[in-house]
Amino acid sequence: MKKLSLIFFFSLMFCQVIAQRAGYWQQRVDYKMDIDVNEQKFQYDGKMNVKYTNNSPETLKKIYFHVYYNAFQPGSTMDHRLVNIADPDSRMVINKGTKENPQYVSRIAQLKPEDQGFHHIKSVKQGGNELKFKVMGTILEVKLTEPIRPNTTTELDLVWQAQVPQIIRRGGKNTLEGVDFSMTQWYPKIAQYDEYGWHLDEYIGREFYAPFGNFDVKISIQKDYVVGASGKLQNPNEVKGYVPGAKIKENKGKTTWHFVAENIHDFAWAADKEFVVSHQKVPNGPDVYFIRMNDESLAKNWKDSEIPTVKFFEFMDKNFGKYPWDTYTIVQGGDGGMEYGTITLITGKRNFESLVGVIYHEIAHSWFQHLFAFNETVDEWMDEGFGSYAENLAYLEIFNKERQPNPNWDAYQSYFQLAKSGVEEPMSLLADYYNYNYAYGVQAYVKGQIYLIQLGYIIGEDNLKKTFLEFYDKWKFKHPTPNDFKRVAEEVSGLNLKWYQNLFVNTTRVIDYGVRSVGDAEIELENLSNFNMPIDLWVEYADGTSELFYIPNQELRGEKPAENFEIYQNAKRTVLEPWQWTNPIYKVKVNKKVSKVSIDPTKRLADINYSNNTYPKA
Ligand SMILES: [Zn+2]
Repeated sequence: MKKLSLIFFFSLMFCQVIAQRAGYWQQRVDYKMDIDVNEQKFQYDGKMNVKYTNNSPETLKKIYFHVYYNAFQPGSTMDHRLVNIADPDSRMVINKGTKENPQYVSRIAQLKPEDQGFHHIKSVKQGGNELKFKVMGTILEVKLTEPIRPNTTTELDLVWQAQVPQIIRRGGKNTLEGVDFSMTQWYPKIAQYDEYGWHLDEYIGREFYAPFGNFDVKISIQKDYVVGASGKLQNPNEVKGYVPGAKIKENKGKTTWHFVAENIHDFAWAADKEFVVSHQKVPNGPDVYFIRMNDESLAKNWKDSEIPTVKFFEFMDKNFGKYPWDTYTIVQGGDGGMEYGTITLITGKRNFESLVGVIYHEIAHSWFQHLFAFNETVDEWMDEGFGSYAENLAYLEIFNKERQPNPNWDAYQSYFQLAKSGVEEPMSLLADYYNYNYAYGVQAYVKGQIYLIQLGYIIGEDNLKKTFLEFYDKWKFKHPTPNDFKRVAEEVSGLNLKWYQNLFVNTTRVIDYGVRSVGDAEIELENLSNFNMPIDLWVEYADGTSELFYIPNQELRGEKPAENFEIYQNAKRTVLEPWQWTNPIYKVKVNKKVSKVSIDPTKRLADINYSNNTYPKA
């Protein structure tokens, strides 16, 4: 017994050592909030107590909060952006011109005072002492009287008043589907401080980054409302909608909803008088709540999506690591689909396929950005790309769709189109700075997804699967960077990936390999691009046999294991000498008459010109 526990102890210590990169630290924030809603004016009074733990090696003299609602005021950074970007989000503007000659007017500029958003900060205290603060745009800066030393916790108390804006983007009042309250980006949220410093991104359009912590939130609202929120409802017996026969506990016509969410980094909620709640339990997994408007036209699709949702959690657990929270809530609200801690707000009037698609996508974000809390302000290709990847894989498996050779070929087409458009910018650019929303969208959702599919091509499908599970063990509840993911893939595969990471993520270079010539004794391949990749070369001989040649690039410093694709069955696999990127030509010796040649018949290589990948030419 003792020996065993000692081994256990040492193995735990060992796990700690390899758990993440040496010197890694992260901040922590625990929130306690009391929210009193005035549903007539769409305003609320807020009080919060935050416990901020400084795990950094620095002493902090200031602290910052995001006050996102201030974006929904004429003259805000978000407002200006809408009229000065070529292709604004159509939800956020009115086109007063024609389709060919658009003249966009910002919806924010048109907001009447009662429809604008604001966070009016009334006081900030530290240990009972009033602190000086200033608000610029959507950032609140607070000067601390007592700096927070490393490895200490401070308590701050905030009092504020907020007005919920007319919904322009993500959250707000009165959605197009009639939901009263879509409460996202709704509270003063402590900004992220990490090894890169403070992340003080103005709210312009793109997404988020924040420290983990617990949320204990009480929301008082008129008693006819039903609330869906992050975390677990603590008093279902006192409020409307969750438990049959609940004895609604009211005080001056209001009920108080109490939610607790542990270890998340963004809390959201939605409320409407028409909400109805349905529930499913994932075996060995979370309680899942489906909350929608009481509208008969929604009933069938929403009901039909429940079991596929349960299956999705099971799929994700198996492939990407176990969902670690007790609950998940899918609530009708917002302006499309947006993920938060243990909750998503989605628009509900959709056909079945679109409803399941958005639910899958948003739940996938519970891994790819909530559990692995990437910095979405710059690494959006990881949360959108990885989320889309998981969503698509799950959809193929759960609905039995065709997988071969590359089920994501459509995504490749849209990436190629962007690459040829002349407006592509590197994936490592700050998310709000893309010149075109179009370019942002394709690189985030599509090129980010291709990053993974192509990584599977480079290190092998089995290694890619192991990488996800290993990544889960090392980086859940943390803030991994692109390099951290790359490092796991390198450790799992034993291959060097520096070149791939740099060229694919930090540049807009494209890949183009081709079959240059096919002779009696050799096949000549050429690299027509300034991007190097390993090559799977499929050769069919005139005698009816076939052979798979594998040419690693020299930077890999190794080779991927054989893969199990239908097309490769029963063929001989020959590993050749590495290809040096400084040499555009590579020769493959053959000793039989060749009838067909194909570079990567699995079509995972993002080769922008496939027409020269085959002999005879496609
Ligand atoms: Zn997404």
